Amino acid sequence: MEKDKSWTAPLEGEQPPRVRRKEINRQQLLLRPVEVEKLVEKDHPVRAIWELVGRLNLESFYAGIEAIEGVAGRPVWDPRLLISLWIYAYKEGVSSAREIARLCQYHPAYQWLTGLEVVNYHTLADFRIRHKEALDRLFIEVLGVLSHEGLITLERVMHDGTKVKACASDKSFHRRATLQDHLRLAREQVEQMGDPESEELSQRVAKAQQRALRERQQRLEEALKELEQMGASRSEPSEKKETRASSTDPDSRVMMGAKGAYGPSYNVQISTDAEAKIIVGVGVTQAPTDAAELEPAVERIEANLGEKPKQMVVDGGLTNQATMEAMAEKQVDLIGALAERRGVAEKRMKQRGVSPDFYPQAFEYDASADCCRCPAGKVLLYETEERSGASVRRRYRAKASDCRGCAFQAQCCPGTKRGRSVVRSEATPEMAAFQAKMETPEAQAIYKQRAGVAEFPNAWIKDKIGVRQFRLRGLVKVTLEAVWACLTYNICQWIRLCWNPQQLA
Ligand code: SF4
Repeated sequence: MEKDKSWTAPLEGEQPPRVRRKEINRQQLLLRPVEVEKLVEKDHPVRAIWELVGRLNLESFYAGIEAIEGVAGRPVWDPRLLISLWIYAYKEGVSSAREIARLCQYHPAYQWLTGLEVVNYHTLADFRIRHKEALDRLFIEVLGVLSHEGLITLERVMHDGTKVKACASDKSFHRRATLQDHLRLAREQVEQMGDPESEELSQRVAKAQQRALRERQQRLEEALKELEQMGASRSEPSEKKETRASSTDPDSRVMMGAKGAYGPSYNVQISTDAEAKIIVGVGVTQAPTDAAELEPAVERIEANLGEKPKQMVVDGGLTNQATMEAMAEKQVDLIGALAERRGVAEKRMKQRGVSPDFYPQAFEYDASADCCRCPAGKVLLYETEERSGASVRRRYRAKASDCRGCAFQAQCCPGTKRGRSVVRSEATPEMAAFQAKMETPEAQAIYKQRAGVAEFPNAWIKDKIGVRQFRLRGLVKVTLEAVWACLTYNICQWIRLCWNPQQLA
């Protein structure tokens, strides 16, 4: 550092000279010019979003607008702007309407979009949920652009499901009696509500409180309806397994998440084209497993792009008999894993303390007598048939007396008083053909690509966009939130792979 030559050390007993510092004046008012166009650089992604949204057909967003030229009334915000605001916000991991409204006040990218205006958060929040059909069309429009760029081929589509937390806590799940108590209380409170005009509180606060109470009553009524539906779908309802529903988000279901933890969630189903990792279909279900989700996924892709994918690649959670039959009927080539199922069975055996020499594959099936033979040579007779989806699993059991006197009991069925049982899944022609196909090196090589393609958008949506938990409640609204997130993902792929800022005027 260069030494200040004008400064000399004070002599002994002398006061050092006072340093001249710049004062910070926070009381001043400033007026300064802002050149809006220069708030963001030429290659800023917010310009790409504005440009792309401007190219799309937004007719369905404009259709319901009542403010028209030549008629009295206030103009409305342009849907192009509101769409661009939401897409840019999601891209930056912002999913709150209030936060966007706040960012409009000072963030250069949001200011550039709005031209230094501030959009009210009510307008933003309403816009996000009011245009379901128009949003679906917008998603398809963007797919059209990406397809035109050659980024979608439908030659190979990877499908995967991911659990996203609902906007509800574990404690919001109650049995019927508790929900009825809460509903009675909520109705009483609604009845006791006074006229907001005569409230001591400000009218705004009083109206907000009334709205909150009515919404709570509505949610509790919905929760009781959900309980009825859940009860009706159960073949053998029992007191022990009395169902519960959430009083906060009645549509949510308790599901097992990625790390094995259970919580109120939704199951988001995402289909990704392998060519450039573009999401070609998105859906949200209340099903805790993915077992029945492939057929609807293929139908969604066909509805979005006008043709079926040639090949679907899935994990072991979707390779069941019903799925295989459905894909065979649709003439869609299915690639997937079966090994995980065997892995699950083996894990259970291990937990029960069964030795690997006595896993189900060690039991020989005799088709002529329809029975199994154990490693000790004893016969296991047919006992029951179990249905899981459309697949049929037949259970065979050894006599208790055979196992009690067997030298292998400690390795084969430790701790059981009944005879050992094994379950056999019937291999239909589709299943047999699928198993043979999956043993080929070509199929295994394709399957190896699955995780890299299918799990990439899931991770991106959770980590970059921040959709680890939905902000909205109810199946319809969370589906909208999922579509906004996937639309943002696809637009980001377009920016990354296609956008050329040099072409801008
Ligand atoms: S325990 Fe029962 S099933 Fe197992 S090997 Fe012995 S006899 Fe067979």
